[in-house]
Amino acid sequence: MSTDKTQLKVLPTLNRRRAPLADPVRQRAILNELDLGPWETSDFDSRVAGVGFDPLLATGVDVLQLNLGRVCNQTCAHCHVDAGPDRTEDMKLPVARRCMEVLAATEIPTVDITGGAPEMSESFRYLVEESTRLGRHVIDRCNLTILLAPRYRDLPVFLAEHHVEVVCSLPHYRQWNTDRQRGTGVFESSIEALRLLNDVGYGRDEDKRLVLVTNPVGAFLPSGQASLEEEWKREMKRLWDVDFDALFTITNMPISRYLEWLTDSGNLEGYMRTLLDAFNPGTVSGLMCRTMLSVSWDGQLFDCDFNQMLDLGLAPGVPGHIDDFDLEALAGRRIVTARHCFGCTAGAGSSCGGSLE
Ligand code: SF4
Ligand code: SF4
Repeated sequence: MSTDKTQLKVLPTLNRRRAPLADPVRQRAILNELDLGPWETSDFDSRVAGVGFDPLLATGVDVLQLNLGRVCNQTCAHCHVDAGPDRTEDMKLPVARRCMEVLAATEIPTVDITGGAPEMSESFRYLVEESTRLGRHVIDRCNLTILLAPRYRDLPVFLAEHHVEVVCSLPHYRQWNTDRQRGTGVFESSIEALRLLNDVGYGRDEDKRLVLVTNPVGAFLPSGQASLEEEWKREMKRLWDVDFDALFTITNMPISRYLEWLTDSGNLEGYMRTLLDAFNPGTVSGLMCRTMLSVSWDGQLFDCDFNQMLDLGLAPGVPGHIDDFDLEALAGRRIVTARHCFGCTAGAGSSCGGSLE
């Protein structure tokens, strides 16, 4: 074991470097300025209108996704949040309490907690405890390595006690691909963290669901989720003696640090064309924004986490802060889209719950 698992190599975020792409407006402009062919096929609203979704509407709120902030112990190359140790945004308790008031006043069945590394937020444990007390299903989007940091060593037991579904990022079951995307030492630490989760029943007991999430290391679409899951289950057991319940494949969104990589490597236009060419009408009805509401660390509301990072607020006329939560207005709202949305409809589709087909 050569790496100190609590001291991962981290890089400065776009925000810390004051990089132009730290500005969401600049990110949106770069995507919009690309010449990707006729408007009918290169405009997302037009494309979904052509297959019967004119406009694209939400059908309810089944998932309240809470993004607790940008603080993270890692600085993955593809991060769509531009998270890292140099960020300070964190959901404070008053906002968290308001989210739980909203939850108590509704029957939203699922609370999906993300970040950053959400476990580092001052509100994380409160949100888990309160959501489960209200009888809701809770998901923790965990980067694994945080479970090895001394302050968080009790987390596997805490998560297990509250029957939290743990959804963990792991680009590949071999070291090279994972460390290339997530940083030196991340793979070895991730395997150790997965074993800690297995030890408390995750991936083994029915009420402790453990999901792995893989995304491509490069400018291409993920392979088929079902066949990859079979391969991963076999190889994770054979190579590392790790058990898990399911594998999600997720397409990399052309925003934030991944957008910077696409731009710097000359892959941006080619990647966007790949997404447009692979547009799959069968994915539109299941787009996660149709049943999810995303809340930012400071209580603003968005159609999804990607729109949140691009600072694309809700449609005009829909109250856009958790303080003004209005289920009726939110449940049938028009979804705000832009070119990054082609990342959700390419190939088998992509969402926080994996592929859509
Ligand atoms: S991808 Fe996840 S683990 Fe990596 S820097 Fe972003 S928030 Fe942190
Ligand atoms: S990026 Fe967000 S708003 Fe756009 S299609 Fe995907 S989930 Fe919906």
